[in-house]
Amino acid sequence: MSDRDCLIIGASHAGVSLALALRKEGWEGGVKLIGAENELPYHRPPLSKEHLAGKKELDAMRLRPMKVYEDNAIDLLLGTTVYSIDRNSKSVKLQTGESLAYDKLAICTGASVRKLPLGQDLDRVHYLRTAADVGLIKPKLEGAKHVAIIGGGYIGLEAAAVLRSFGLEVTVVEMAERVLSRVTGEVMSEFMTALHMMHGVSIKTSSQVAAIQAADSGQITISCKSGETIQADFVMVGVGVDPNTTLAEAAGLSVGDGIIVDEYTRCSDPDIFAAGDCTEHPNALYKKTLRLESVQNANDQARVAAANMCGKSVVYDAVPWFWSDQYDIKLQMAGLNEDYDEFVVRGDPQNTEEGFAVFYLKDGKLLAADCVKRPKEFMVSKQLIAQDQTVDSGLLRDESSDPVSWR
Ligand SMILES: Cc1cc2nc3c(=O)[nH]c(=O)nc-3n(C[C@H](O)[C@H](O)[C@H](O)COP(=O)(O)OP(=O)(O)OC[C@H]3O[C@@H](n4cnc5c(N)ncnc54)[C@H](O)[C@@H]3O)c2cc1C
Repeated sequence: MSDRDCLIIGASHAGVSLALALRKEGWEGGVKLIGAENELPYHRPPLSKEHLAGKKELDAMRLRPMKVYEDNAIDLLLGTTVYSIDRNSKSVKLQTGESLAYDKLAICTGASVRKLPLGQDLDRVHYLRTAADVGLIKPKLEGAKHVAIIGGGYIGLEAAAVLRSFGLEVTVVEMAERVLSRVTGEVMSEFMTALHMMHGVSIKTSSQVAAIQAADSGQITISCKSGETIQADFVMVGVGVDPNTTLAEAAGLSVGDGIIVDEYTRCSDPDIFAAGDCTEHPNALYKKTLRLESVQNANDQARVAAANMCGKSVVYDAVPWFWSDQYDIKLQMAGLNEDYDEFVVRGDPQNTEEGFAVFYLKDGKLLAADCVKRPKEFMVSKQLIAQDQTVDSGLLRDESSDPVSWR
């Protein structure tokens, strides 16, 4: 064994993938995976889905069993926060005061929920990012009748679907004109709105929250700028996340909308790499830098970082993809639908049985696809986006044309 040490800050999707990939790439030195959360690393997506619904316990959501870390000689330091990075001495300081030296460092610090400057001291206003958050939320839902969800993004809508299944009254309050406006087009937003309304969720768009106040009874009043008020006995807020860049910034690394990395996922210091939600990285396909919040990005970027830490020159150029589960609907998204000049709908968005897909094109090339119950269209879209070739939009629309034949 060599005595070279790799430290990884952040033990979630990116950190765990990076640690294991280092071993696959032949890293022989020590690997320390340092995570602030106390839990053995777990899958985050089920938090707002099966775990909130009570259908999956945390122990069924572990990224890897403890034995895998042991077998791969990965030293897991849980409940441990890295306080600072000293690039001169190539070491990090822990909150305990202890210092750990590194030869290579990986920053996988992820993101934290963006907090509203409202209702912060209220006991029944919650955010959802960690398993600990769900642990706090669940008991407070007992006895609740009406939940307000601020933010009609994926997490807010997933939570809305789960809470409706408990029989709670649910109101979603969204500042934009439509739900999911940041991530999808109008057809999908309309479909999602109709789906939730069909299940009895009340959705209020173009509604900006101005105040959140609680009465002695515990009843919470949400006041919107329009003058409308919403009464609830529990409030969940899902208004986005911010990348955890403080450590990197304090260490003098380049930071923009995330820790800036090059196409090899290397930071502005050649011995430091970063992966996952915390990075701003170049994307050759879309010819711009991106910050993504997805498991795919965290895993794929981490594997590329590990290869490059082991001396390879691998470029990160994966097509982004994401999924969301709401009621019995699986939504799968490939690519990014920004700046499209044409969109094509395949199937009928009213038909929740057979599903449908929306394809977004620019100059005849496929940029992105949103697929509801259409796994084949999703798989083929990922390939078409990567190929960066023009596609016949008539074929995309034609239900008699098999997606496999488009490649
Ligand atoms: C409720 C929910 C549902 C989601 N659903 C989906 C989905 O359906 N599909 C999908 O693709 N994505 C989904 N996501 C997004 C996905 O979970 C993230 O993109 C993914 O977790 C990013 O992984 P990461 O490792 O980059 O960061 P994170 O998962 O944020 O992990 C970063 C870790 O670093 C730790 N850390 C931070 N700073 C320090 C420090 N100084 N010292 C030590 N440790 C530190 C944090 O405690 C955290 O454990 C969901 C996210 C949430 C919250």
